[in-house]
Amino acid sequence: MLHFVTPPVCASALIFSILTTCLIGQVMADGPGRQNDFQGRRVLMMGIDGCRRDVMEQVIKDGSAPHFTKIATEGHACWNMEAGGQLIGVLNQPTISGPGWSTLFTGVFANKHGVLHNGAKFSAGHFKQYPHFFRYLRELKPSAWLGSVVGDTWPEVNSILIAGSGENLANNNTIVATEVVKEGAATRELTDANVAKEAVHCLTAENPDVLFLHFLDVDHAGHQFGFSPEIPTYISTLRALDKQIGTVLEAMQKRPQFKDESWLIIVTTDHGGIKKGHGGQSPEERQIFAFFNAPGFKPTAERDGKVFQSLVTPTVLDFLQVPIKPEWGFESAPLKP
Ligand SMILES: [Zn+2]
Repeated sequence: MLHFVTPPVCASALIFSILTTCLIGQVMADGPGRQNDFQGRRVLMMGIDGCRRDVMEQVIKDGSAPHFTKIATEGHACWNMEAGGQLIGVLNQPTISGPGWSTLFTGVFANKHGVLHNGAKFSAGHFKQYPHFFRYLRELKPSAWLGSVVGDTWPEVNSILIAGSGENLANNNTIVATEVVKEGAATRELTDANVAKEAVHCLTAENPDVLFLHFLDVDHAGHQFGFSPEIPTYISTLRALDKQIGTVLEAMQKRPQFKDESWLIIVTTDHGGIKKGHGGQSPEERQIFAFFNAPGFKPTAERDGKVFQSLVTPTVLDFLQVPIKPEWGFESAPLKP
């Protein structure tokens, strides 16, 4: 997430969001879960912007994040993932959002996707050649329901990565308005509750095949107060997100065909942080995690040493039984059950 400019809450964006929500709400879920485009397999990917590994470990250890705990311990937790690419020449990239999300969604590093920046230069990424994985899914299954819910203070996953890949999410492309709260003398812009609310709506009224949620509040707390297990607001923001994710998981489990569906739930992040920023190659900025949780998904071949964000895209596609082509240039083999 970008850290210096946060636009004010936009009333028209809120109205747009409400209108969009109402319109989408008219489309009801149909058909048994088994009969989707992917043999009943579906993916919910939740991205926490700027979440340090040690802070996630802490809330799991102290019992204050039961939903993250369940996802991590009942699934497969990669605690050895690193942001920032590999520490080798052209495979290295800054620990910021543009390169991080690009690698998570394309399966390649900056030497291929071309993203070393946020902002305007992010849009020069090579997403036609190395697209967001939605593009591969769309080509294989034109009617797939693909959704990406992002906050309107950093819509770039949708507006640059997905749009630049030539994917048009049509009605599923939702930008969620922010809310502003006072915390002592500080003003905080929060989007996570609205992202979770929209996710609940999608899971209740729609039939998602793949749904991505981008949660921003943890990164904002880091920039405002500090990225550290010693910073109460940074930790409490992650705990608050755990509660919100609880509402999303509840909505998933209440789906009428849930017992016939096979969901892969992923929780990961684009980078860590140090002091009030990130972008460098310190352990605090590089050390992240990814959780993969699905029925029967218990990979036995844990990788030695480190894994990288390039693991996520091939794992999603392999779970959805998409044959991976060598010309896609993925840097990692998929994690398999
Ligand atoms: Zn940030």
